[in-house]
Amino acid sequence: MSTQFKILRFDPATDDHPHFQVFEHTPKAQDTMLEVLKDIRDQQDPSLAFRYSCREAVCGSCALTINGQICLACKTLFAALKTDVVVIEPLPNLEIQKDLIVDFAPFWEAYRFIQPYLQPEGDIPEKGHHVEESELAEVFQYTTCILCASCYAACPVATRDERYLGPAALVKLHRFVKDPRDKRSYEALKRVDTPTGIWGCDTVFRCNDVCPKEVRPADGIEGLRRKMVVERTKHLFGRKK
Ligand code: SF4
Repeated sequence: MSTQFKILRFDPATDDHPHFQVFEHTPKAQDTMLEVLKDIRDQQDPSLAFRYSCREAVCGSCALTINGQICLACKTLFAALKTDVVVIEPLPNLEIQKDLIVDFAPFWEAYRFIQPYLQPEGDIPEKGHHVEESELAEVFQYTTCILCASCYAACPVATRDERYLGPAALVKLHRFVKDPRDKRSYEALKRVDTPTGIWGCDTVFRCNDVCPKEVRPADGIEGLRRKMVVERTKHLFGRKK
């Protein structure tokens, strides 16, 4: 049976505003929404623009809004939507470049800001750093982020304040701070000790809800807040001595 797919279209070269275009299409029983989009593009309109790569929820490039829910198109079965009309829109909170493709620039800017790499002290030991399995287990949840920006798109703080670093960048920082090899300085942490950093989060947990990898960014932000309070106190005591 044919289904209506209402897809948001926008070409900055020709359009003043985004608008919906309706496509009639009959998906196959096991089609994912990514397969639906590819079929519509291949069979009806080759100009339809959207991102994808791995098709198995690893690259994070096909995050979209489908019937109001932020999700990975490659991980969303058409049949699971159980509807005759499917509305497909780009991720919110990021500017549309064309159709379903958004500009990730603010997302990457925040990501770079937190310095997303290990900062160990001294030279790397000849046999590398030793990390206990239990220590890795503590960090593992936060290492599975695929940088899909779903959490950033769902975040109400990012909606109202474009300076907010967002859940993905902050949970990535938590991932490194929690790593026993990382010895970044108090000054490096202080960069996020701000209303647009760790204290900006409203703790409404939308990031936790939409994350396709169960990273639970809000947990990471909470962890960073605790760490910051401890480090700040240590720093103050250090000064008094
Ligand atoms: S934390 Fe989850 S939702 Fe956010 S970018 Fe990483 S994988 Fe995507």
